[in-house]
Amino acid sequence: MTDIRRLIPRTDAVLADPDFTAPLTKLGRARVKAAVNEAQRLAREGVIAPGDVPATALAALSWAGPRRVVNATGVLLHTNLGRAPLPAAAVEALAVAAGATDVELDLATGRRGRRGRTALAALAAAVPAAGGVHLVNNNAAALVLAATAFAGGREIVISRGEMVEIGDGFRLPDLLVSTGARLREVGTTNRTSVDDYAAAIGPDTGFVLKVHPSNYRIEGFTGTPGIAELAGVCREAGLPLVADAGSGLLRPEPLLPGEPDAATWLKEGADLVTASGDKLLGGPQCGLILGRADLVERLRRHPLARALRVDKLTLAALEATLAALAASTATSATGGHPVTDALHADPVRLRRRARALAARLTDAGIPAHAVDSEATAGGGSAPGVTLASAAVALDAALAGPLREGDPAVLGRVEHGRCLLDLRTVAEPGDDELFAAVVAACG
Ligand SMILES: *Cc1c(COP(=O)(O)O)cnc(C)c1O
Repeated sequence: MTDIRRLIPRTDAVLADPDFTAPLTKLGRARVKAAVNEAQRLAREGVIAPGDVPATALAALSWAGPRRVVNATGVLLHTNLGRAPLPAAAVEALAVAAGATDVELDLATGRRGRRGRTALAALAAAVPAAGGVHLVNNNAAALVLAATAFAGGREIVISRGEMVEIGDGFRLPDLLVSTGARLREVGTTNRTSVDDYAAAIGPDTGFVLKVHPSNYRIEGFTGTPGIAELAGVCREAGLPLVADAGSGLLRPEPLLPGEPDAATWLKEGADLVTASGDKLLGGPQCGLILGRADLVERLRRHPLARALRVDKLTLAALEATLAALAASTATSATGGHPVTDALHADPVRLRRRARALAARLTDAGIPAHAVDSEATAGGGSAPGVTLASAAVALDAALAGPLREGDPAVLGRVEHGRCLLDLRTVAEPGDDELFAAVVAACG
């Protein structure tokens, strides 16, 4: 025991090692010293060899903070990778907003301004059919706010075919009930008629909720009324129709015909549309609330709104995302809005890239070949829709080393191969991908 203790390098000696210079500058002495002490403890307990103390401490420190991951899964909105990658303009806006910023100040007058007014104005401009707009922490928060404000202690009418589990065990019905609202379920799993809704509406109804089945599909003998039909029933009853669109498309996307968009739903008569900011909108995590000005104002002024409000970083990133989205839609240029760019990437070009990358790897002595692949939207959008794509197929044994590289590369293991799908990798990333595979083989 004493022998081992004597072999463990002393803290000062470890910290003096040039390998620790960068971590000391970046993370500070206390943090680095704690990592060294923890490694020394592991050595004392015989978990690691005394000589491994510096390496163990460095490894622990290198895990500090989130790691960059190249998304080569072919899943555009990968939930476990944080959904939408932000436009470069949004990243720049984040850097500006990180310091002191005019989030709640009108610089022209020097007086207090409405919080996030430029972001809200950009959102309103992007969806002219919305009389009012408001932002909250995420789509779930938007639903909680609507349920609390419009149906606290009362009923929300919802179809049994739209009782959705959104992921990680969270279910929308549970979320709604947690606000004190009651659910009045109507229809069946596969079919709900407009009469089912009409019959369920009564003096205790707070609002009618339509939920887009964003992560599953029911096929066969199915039917459910559209927004226009439901809006008719709600108007007659004098009740709001709240519609959860999920994916955050603001306008129709021809490549995803089954995905609802806010503009269309509002035109069809939805009083409020809610959606996520970090799905197909391609922005930061947030919840959009769009629609009738009086209803939006009630939500905005509700006490709970303060607990659900977004921070200055989100406001800045969203505003820049909306500008990038408008620019990429207007010019169909690529490079400004990663989600749109990935969605619209030309399969012919993707195949050419896959062939070029596979050839480079083969030349470097690494078995690789280009294959056709199918990408998906993911992240609770467009279930069942596939996008023609191309991938580089590698030995499945490379999946692990690629995942642990820097940057980490996440592919898709399929039929005993590791596929690197290029639809989710922006074109300038091919060199980096090549280097990552070479490193993973080393
Ligand atoms: C994704 C999704 C949600 C949850 O949205 P968050 O922004 O993750 O809170 C709710 N409803 C639908 C229909 C969705 O697709």
